[in-house]
Amino acid sequence: SRPKVVVIGGGSGGATAARYIAHDSAAEIEVTLIEPTRQYYTCYFSNLYIAGFWDYDDLAHGYGRLAARNGINVVHDWAVAVDREARQVRLAGGSALPYDRLVISPGIDFVEDSVPGWSVAAQNAMPHAYRAGSQTRLLRDQLMEMREGGVFCLVAPPHPYRCPPGPYERICMVAHLLKQRNPKAKILLVDPKPGFPKQALFEEAWQRHYGGMIERIGPESGSSTISVDPDTMTVDIDGHSETVDVCNVIPAQKAGHIAEVAGLTDDSGWAPVHPGDMTSRRDTAIHVLGDAADQGDMPKSGFAANSQAKVAANAICHALLGQRAFPARYMNTCWSLLGPEDGVKVGAVYEPKDGRIRTVDSFISTRDEDAQTRQATFRESVDWYHAITTDMFS
Ligand code: FAD
Repeated sequence: SRPKVVVIGGGSGGATAARYIAHDSAAEIEVTLIEPTRQYYTCYFSNLYIAGFWDYDDLAHGYGRLAARNGINVVHDWAVAVDREARQVRLAGGSALPYDRLVISPGIDFVEDSVPGWSVAAQNAMPHAYRAGSQTRLLRDQLMEMREGGVFCLVAPPHPYRCPPGPYERICMVAHLLKQRNPKAKILLVDPKPGFPKQALFEEAWQRHYGGMIERIGPESGSSTISVDPDTMTVDIDGHSETVDVCNVIPAQKAGHIAEVAGLTDDSGWAPVHPGDMTSRRDTAIHVLGDAADQGDMPKSGFAANSQAKVAANAICHALLGQRAFPARYMNTCWSLLGPEDGVKVGAVYEPKDGRIRTVDSFISTRDEDAQTRQATFRESVDWYHAITTDMFS
């Protein structure tokens, strides 16, 4: 019978891996993809939905084509356990799936109590909107209904977290929405970090597009001792209490729970991997992709997860079928939208070095670019969105 690969998680890493393994092996490997949801909502471009540039449905992707065109078994269920000895994945529905190789790309979970007062039980009062879908819609609804002149507060996460520029792009996109609908509103960014990615580009845009709307509170002003109270909608910063109208708490993050259940994570909460093929340092029959992996210099992004999935797919076809293995090389670009058609980017190329994935070349947009360059960068990001979702779902 054909060798078996089970993939846990049908997101940026998992869907790409399933499709490339099925395709590159010319269906000689039996691929099963486990994903609980029937519609995957991308986090990428979810900030543009919040701003009103995109529709909610533009973010949704189903698994029908992926299954039908590539012969992948898509099982809509949760993986609840991995028996590494027996090489089986157990599903919530009770069945057990045997594997020769396992791919895990479950994304993130939130660290309990990382923002005192906030818990997953409070996510409707204070949404994170950091896993896309209903949370993203809730945050947009709350912003649309915010009282005139109200306060929006975003609590940013500590490193490492998914999409390093994501919270700051969100500030831009919320500011864009409020500038149109509620121009007297205020935006409070509470950030435990002293700095953040593309900071000079973001801060310049906050002045230029949204002058006077945005206030940032960093560690120098007490952001490292913050707590929230979802019942009273207050944010306590270094002993000073602020009442806010909409509060977007993005907590500290760790690998998706199943990676921990499978015994693949370490004290950091992330799953260490080998840089040449993304195999787990705990079990070389398992590849951990995307946000859940602790690999080195690559940011936790959809682009990165997609790039890692292709390397893992090649390694799996090599291991199970003896196909030619190519040396690992990874890529990433993170685009961010600052204002209408005002796009910037940061990116790099990576290779394995000294046991980690290391940057070998990088680029970043500059502050003095003209409007035409920014528009071209924005259009490039839209092209990328269609390219990656085609790569994952068709
Ligand atoms: P995901 O894509 O989250 O997929 C994980 C999947 O696993 C989910 O579908 C989940 O349902 C499933 N799963 C979890 N547990 C189980 C289980 N036990 N059993 C079965 N299935 C399970 N990245 C970019 O490259 N560009 C961007 O512009 C960008 N913008 C972003 C903006 C925002 C606001 C945010 C929050 C993120 C953004 N990202 C962006 C980051 C990107 O979304 C993630 O880094 C990427 O999706 C990670 O891929 P993944 O495969 O690790 O996880």
